[in-house]
Amino acid sequence: MQKIFFATPINLTPTCFKGNDRVTSYARRTCGDCTLCCKVMAIEALAKPANAWCPHCGPGRGCAIYPARPDECKSFACLWLVNDLLDERWKPSRAKLVLTTSEDGIEIRCDPGFPDAWRREPYTGDIRAWAVEGETNDMTVVVIAGRRIILVTADREFDLGSVGPDDRIVRELEGTRVVGATVVKARDS
Ligand code: SF4
Ligand code: SF4
Repeated sequence: MQKIFFATPINLTPTCFKGNDRVTSYARRTCGDCTLCCKVMAIEALAKPANAWCPHCGPGRGCAIYPARPDECKSFACLWLVNDLLDERWKPSRAKLVLTTSEDGIEIRCDPGFPDAWRREPYTGDIRAWAVEGETNDMTVVVIAGRRIILVTADREFDLGSVGPDDRIVRELEGTRVVGATVVKARDS
């Protein structure tokens, strides 16, 4: 059986924020010196591409237009900020990884300066464990390093190469197990 889903990791409505003074009620965390989402995420309202610093960001310091930042920045929070199951090692500025969710599952964006950050421990072990869990819950785990997407499954990695914003990722399933994954380019569909 084939399952088709849209490549939301790159197709995401770009969202980003910088909330150094933001405190979540659930985890009581603050961004502190982290500004990584202002680099890795695209921001539609500012026409800021992914993987480039926002011109308003002072890396490690915060947003120069914080009161007037776009709504998409205001509404964004990475998973570390809101989920205290992710410990301090997962703080994006330390891990060099920004975690978000999509309707398909978990997305792990690498700081472009550290495209292999996700291969270090404890990150790669946790990512693999989520992939194992995801196999029974129909949840995908994707690593995004620049435009390159890697679909991580319970027992494999599918390096899908460069995936464009309108491309689709097609998974081939045997039961719940992913046995293949390919990219259908927008121009071919
Ligand atoms: S506008 Fe501010 S919060 Fe939004 S990406 Fe730029 S620096 Fe970050
Ligand atoms: S990546 Fe997360 S912790 Fe870092 S600035 Fe953005 S929301 Fe805050």
